[in-house]
Amino acid sequence: MEVVVVGAGLAGSEAAYYLLKKGIDVILYEMKPVKFSPAHKNPNFAELVCSNTFGSMELTNASGLLKKEMELLDSIVMKAAKESYVPAGKALAVDRNLFSKIITDTLKSFKNLKVINEEFYNIEEFVNNKKPIIIATGPLTSEKLFQNLKKIIKKDYLYFFDAISPIVDANSIDYTKGFWGARYQPDSNDYFNCTLSKEEYDLFYNELIKAQTVEFKEFEKDIYFEGCLPIEEMAKRGYKTLLYGPMKPVGLKNNNIKPYAVVQLRKENKEGTMLSLVGFQTKMKYPEQDRVFRLIPALKNAEFLRYGSIHKNIFIQSNYVLSKYLNLRGYDNIFLAGQLIGVEGYLISAATGIVAAINAFNFINNKKFIEFPTNTIIGAIINYITTKEGELQPINPVWNIIPDYNNIQNLPKEQKRTIIANKSLESIKNDLLKYI
Ligand SMILES: Cc1cc2nc3c(=O)[nH]c(=O)nc-3n(C[C@H](O)[C@H](O)[C@H](O)COP(=O)(O)OP(=O)(O)OC[C@H]3O[C@@H](n4cnc5c(N)ncnc54)[C@H](O)[C@@H]3O)c2cc1C
Repeated sequence: MEVVVVGAGLAGSEAAYYLLKKGIDVILYEMKPVKFSPAHKNPNFAELVCSNTFGSMELTNASGLLKKEMELLDSIVMKAAKESYVPAGKALAVDRNLFSKIITDTLKSFKNLKVINEEFYNIEEFVNNKKPIIIATGPLTSEKLFQNLKKIIKKDYLYFFDAISPIVDANSIDYTKGFWGARYQPDSNDYFNCTLSKEEYDLFYNELIKAQTVEFKEFEKDIYFEGCLPIEEMAKRGYKTLLYGPMKPVGLKNNNIKPYAVVQLRKENKEGTMLSLVGFQTKMKYPEQDRVFRLIPALKNAEFLRYGSIHKNIFIQSNYVLSKYLNLRGYDNIFLAGQLIGVEGYLISAATGIVAAINAFNFINNKKFIEFPTNTIIGAIINYITTKEGELQPINPVWNIIPDYNNIQNLPKEQKRTIIANKSLESIKNDLLKYI
């Protein structure tokens, strides 16, 4: 039997990869390049629409643990990330084009894959035919599909706004107005730190808080995801917010310069010809981005290769409609994965693709569905989004989501995290791998 996977993003690519390796025929619907969402630009699979980083690689960071869990599950996203790695201190950053190309080429090398480049929306058919389908169309799911999905789940959707940070041409930077180095890593030169004096910061700050931004439609309440606030929203919370946030001048070693504030630029590709402004997601209008960001001395003549932008992210109320196996309650054959189900971030979106695929495989083989252990980051997040009482808000990997974490007391943070991380990885190795 075949499985239909809709959306070749992070989650859809992982789901397809798992099934293809198991010898299952996969029909992968991807609307690009026929139709692009407002944030997608690249025709390849697994496009990273904003930052080119997957966060910390350290096991004492929840995002680091998630990476290790995914590696144990043979994640294609983790494999491609390692192959397309660009240096970024303790973070796993990638050359986004190479990353997407590796995933596209790998999936297309399977003979049991059929790609259909069309907008998919006929979900009702699967209600009747009981064939397995995984919907992984992301936070920018096309309207037509979303409306049809809504008819089945009979619950309204929720949304929040997410913003993209700009990318500049590396040749247009004034490298005399800053220095190379990474925070808290004296031996690393992975970031260019654009420096600002107090006067320069004041000027930048005052223009930033009054810059013109893209307006919301009347009916849209401006709800942001706290982990990805636009820089101007952050600034409006107070003069010092940025100085304790993305512009903090600490952890950097440079004996000659004591900046009042810094803006970090990170390499976007292996060649280092493109740099992104770290933590500078924005909804300022494009001409305003030119004007305000060029007040940062190193960016005075910056050429913007991509401007920051803002998008409405939709997600379903998984706590009312989704099971822990990631199929719709009442529809065993209809699985959902990715950011659409109320997780937040590239990696956890991808990870849920693996879970949906494992259970879609079990569905066609009449095997028991698998519930991921809640002492893993993946299992704990799925447990959270499917059982939360009241209104669901998107969740990304955090330690407290693992129930055991809160039960360990009187130990230093690092030690506590190491214990939890080891338990999680043991649990995947000993309790899960033999079943998948
Ligand atoms: C503007 C924006 C910025 C973000 N920035 C970050 C960030 O910096 N870091 C981070 O970790 N996360 C970020 N995210 C959040 C999230 O991690 C990503 O959206 C992630 O790509 C989600 O993975 P996914 O597989 O669920 O969806 P996607 O990766 O978006 O994949 C969905 C795919 O489905 C396709 N599709 C949609 N509708 C249809 C249809 N009807 N038929 C066929 N194909 C369809 C799309 O073309 C797309 O290829 C951002 C999200 C947005 C919207």
